Amino acid sequence: MEDRQAAALRRLQVLSPGFLPDVGLSGGSLRQAPCSSSPSKQEDSSDLVSVPPHLFRDAPVSSRSQYESLYSQSLGDPDGFWGGEAKCLFWKNPWDADRPVCAYNFDKRKGPIFVEWFRGGYTNVCFNAIDRHVDSGRGNQVAVLWEGNDPRFNARITYSELLRYVCQVANLLRSRGVKKGDRVCIYMPMILELPVAMLACARIGAIHSVVFAGFSAEALSGRILDCQSQVVLTCSAVRRGDKMLLLKEIVDEALQLCSQRSGFSVETCVVYDNETAVPRKNVAWQARDIWWQDAVRECSTSAEVEWMESEEPLFMLYTSGSTGKPKGVLHTVGGYMVYASTTFKYCFAPRKEDVFWCTADCGWITGHTYVVYGPLLNGTTSLVYEGVPAWPHPGRCWEIVDKYKVTAFYTAPTLIRSLQAYDKEHVKKFSRSTLRLLATAGEPINPKAWNWYFDVVGDRRCPILDTWWQTETGGVMLTPLPGAWPLKPGSATLPFFGVEPVVLDQQGKELKGPCEGYLCIRRPWPGIARTIYGDHKRYEETYFSTWLSYYNTGDGCRRDENGYITITGRVDDVINVSGHRISTSEVEAALASHPGCAEVAVVGFPHEVKGEGIYAYIIQMDGHTDRGELIKALKVLARKEIGGFAVPDVLHFVPGLPKTRSGKVMRNILRKIASNRTDLGDTSTLADPAVVSKIISSKM
Ligand code: AMP
Repeated sequence: MEDRQAAALRRLQVLSPGFLPDVGLSGGSLRQAPCSSSPSKQEDSSDLVSVPPHLFRDAPVSSRSQYESLYSQSLGDPDGFWGGEAKCLFWKNPWDADRPVCAYNFDKRKGPIFVEWFRGGYTNVCFNAIDRHVDSGRGNQVAVLWEGNDPRFNARITYSELLRYVCQVANLLRSRGVKKGDRVCIYMPMILELPVAMLACARIGAIHSVVFAGFSAEALSGRILDCQSQVVLTCSAVRRGDKMLLLKEIVDEALQLCSQRSGFSVETCVVYDNETAVPRKNVAWQARDIWWQDAVRECSTSAEVEWMESEEPLFMLYTSGSTGKPKGVLHTVGGYMVYASTTFKYCFAPRKEDVFWCTADCGWITGHTYVVYGPLLNGTTSLVYEGVPAWPHPGRCWEIVDKYKVTAFYTAPTLIRSLQAYDKEHVKKFSRSTLRLLATAGEPINPKAWNWYFDVVGDRRCPILDTWWQTETGGVMLTPLPGAWPLKPGSATLPFFGVEPVVLDQQGKELKGPCEGYLCIRRPWPGIARTIYGDHKRYEETYFSTWLSYYNTGDGCRRDENGYITITGRVDDVINVSGHRISTSEVEAALASHPGCAEVAVVGFPHEVKGEGIYAYIIQMDGHTDRGELIKALKVLARKEIGGFAVPDVLHFVPGLPKTRSGKVMRNILRKIASNRTDLGDTSTLADPAVVSKIISSKM
């Protein structure tokens, strides 16, 4: 315990000012300061931005006082609050009335960590997301709008049509032997069939594991092996912008790796035939492969629902931790469903006519909760976009907003920063008049990007919800509610209902009032991940060991006198590149596997568009002289082992690394050098202090 706290403290202290993207308020940059019970920087009400509340008069919560009373109820009477929310959904059998809605242990000293919600209740997420709306006469409403990469291709599907399609795919899976509890790996681009595949799994109780279709064959094979999925759903190929991704080839390579490495063979690979990208005849074929369209056509359009006990698994999603091995974060049926539905309802205040566009890929948690489950559980129309934001022109997003009359737009700060680089005419030439709400997630948003989003995109009319949450939290944890209280650029403001954040100092003592420190959560909310697939010990170690009896978010934060919380960034060795979490050790392992590398250290550094970039320090192996070739090979390796988004932005060849006498690499010094900082602190304790100036002088 002592060691872990000390290590966490070291990490918090070594994150240098300016290392993280500037998410501070106007007039100053945010820094990770040592924990303290008073904020390090003046923040006053002039930082606050009010939005005319008229757009949200009919929202479920329209004032801070209304929020305060509901928030108190959610903590004081979780049975009443969460029971009430859960009852808005359909349960085949209600949860046990004679026990509390939630049972849990967050304290390792008292036994194994566990969380349970709505025990004894039976339900089905797919039924609630589709059948329930069809049964209540809303079958003709559009459930999903789809816009292709090529603007000439698009589609729409009503709730009734979606039900039939999902049933067909559910039957297809069943016909291939998939049953409740089996894992199904989904490696698909953002086509309509991706949500369909997820919902089909949910319908039959199979656990879906969506792997972002930007991951390499190597990464995909690791994920398939970890959860031993017998069935893989994929797509022949996809065009994103002017690039072509041959997904089926990547799957073939991944499956070959699975059998070479572990003798594991996938029984069925269902391939969606995307003729707009590649003709069917050009796709290599194996005995295990079947075409999606051919197989689905044969399947019945109705499929029995598998009623699931609340705590049975719904899906897993791999995310990076501070070690090299990705974790399969597991979410369960009842709690996730209620949390996805409730957060969507309060945060986005949906109305019947709304068109909700979350730009996240379904390969990440934001895509799960706010492209698929949250909107559909609320009977909203969700937009799925296959392409990239600025293709074929920088105004594409706003063109789509006008084309589909989008009312809420939810994206990542990195997208905002990348669009901000273009002339604002690309935004202004589209009307965007239907927009009433803007939101962000995944990483800190710097005030410049926030202001551009607010002024240029939202015409100062739309509130911006800066939502803080994680793969493990299942849904939004800190967020403004639209129109209910003033916004503060860069701050996720207040906790969602049922979420009890605490700020700890380095001794693990709770800080009160304005302060800075480690962000932890005191008690479970329904959407919390229940375990890491196949590794509950790692779950306990990662989230419940640094600070006993709290969920450890791994983030630092600052709280102001309004109670607003601003996230200051990760306090572990995880970096956030364009909203994608990457562990530095994962990248190090990939690069170090090259025979030309003697040693590697990877850190994050501020990047104008990505938020954080990847900076790799390399000690070249003696005798390996061709540096140009080595650079190319290392980039290929990172792409191959992890994916394109893990390719380092900077490869810096150094004569040595700054190490303590015990051999630990001093990453804080490396971070500062990568960020061009000169205040390197005391380097005299290093085994070889001279190495620091050698590194600096070798910087290109
Ligand atoms: P992921 O689970 O990959 O979505 O990553 C979660 C991490 O992203 C969090 O632990 C934060 O470090 C960061 N993050 C997510 N949302 C925000 C936000 N609104 N502001 C600042 N950081 C965020």
